[in-house]
Amino acid sequence: MPVPVHEQPRPRPTDAWAARQRLGHRVQHTPLRHSPSLSRRVGAPVHLKLECLQTTGSFKLRGATNALLALDAAARARGVVTVSTGNHGRALAWAARALGVRAVVCMSHLVPQNKRDAIDALGAEIHISGDSQDAAERTVTRLVQEQGLVRIPPFDDARVIAGQATLGLELLEDLPDLQTVLVPLSGGGLLAGVALAIKAAAPTARLVGVSMAHGCAMHASLAAGRPVQVEEVPSLADSLGGGIGLHNRHTFALVQALVDETLLVSEAEIARGIAHAYFQEQLVVEGAGAVGIAALLAGRVAAPGRTAVVVSGANIDMAQHRQIISAATTT
Ligand SMILES: *Cc1c(COP(=O)(O)O)cnc(C)c1O
Repeated sequence: MPVPVHEQPRPRPTDAWAARQRLGHRVQHTPLRHSPSLSRRVGAPVHLKLECLQTTGSFKLRGATNALLALDAAARARGVVTVSTGNHGRALAWAARALGVRAVVCMSHLVPQNKRDAIDALGAEIHISGDSQDAAERTVTRLVQEQGLVRIPPFDDARVIAGQATLGLELLEDLPDLQTVLVPLSGGGLLAGVALAIKAAAPTARLVGVSMAHGCAMHASLAAGRPVQVEEVPSLADSLGGGIGLHNRHTFALVQALVDETLLVSEAEIARGIAHAYFQEQLVVEGAGAVGIAALLAGRVAAPGRTAVVVSGANIDMAQHRQIISAATTT
């Protein structure tokens, strides 16, 4: 059995408040905007949590910054390393630059070039290896051993989950009587954090994870009752790729305990979500950020009541975005 480098206590709702204090103004309290078009479609008030407007273009800045701020001076001096589908790496690179910490980001060949370029521009070192998150993860392990870098995982980490939970605190403030929350789901750091914050204050709120139809490891793991591996395949929702780790420490148990349901959307539905965000909401949204909108448009969520949809990121390749909106005939 591999022994974890450091055991972390299980994240608690109060960790969200501590993270909020620690983060201060390093992350933005993003707008929650009513969507007339989606409200009409669904027959219930729908609000969009515009995390696509967050600094670095995704919510990942919350968890990455919280984890980095929690390190002591000795750990910061060693530098940090992570595996990423792009947005966590970009967030970590941003936070590391702000604090003067060396950052190394390991990615697979599936990570789009625009995301690699943005990380490079922030001064982080980049390693590209293999065709899966798991392959890139092996490079992380090697760099931890060889160079003594400190690992900052993208989701399965108490400090990261607490950082993402600050998004849930903002939702509670801005929509206190919310009934349904749709959250994009991959490794589950975002969903676990948001659920942790929201269920503590509003236990009857329905928490729904949304992912792409092919390659959602958390969905398959929930069905199996334990973490399982699924094949990683290219998707418009590239930020949702990758496994949850067969030795998952936090997110699987939290999602299993706190989340009411998970649902899946097809590639065509994700494209429709991206187009809807653009034509109806004047928003540029990446595939992973559009899955909640896609689920509503597809009629996948019955009687949601007062609904918040987390629009988790903006970082789409703009040539791909142009193709998608050109091909869209109707929204
Ligand atoms: C990372 C990411 C997600 C999924 O977050 P997890 O914590 O891995 O579930 C969703 N949307 C975007 C834009 C992301 O970058």
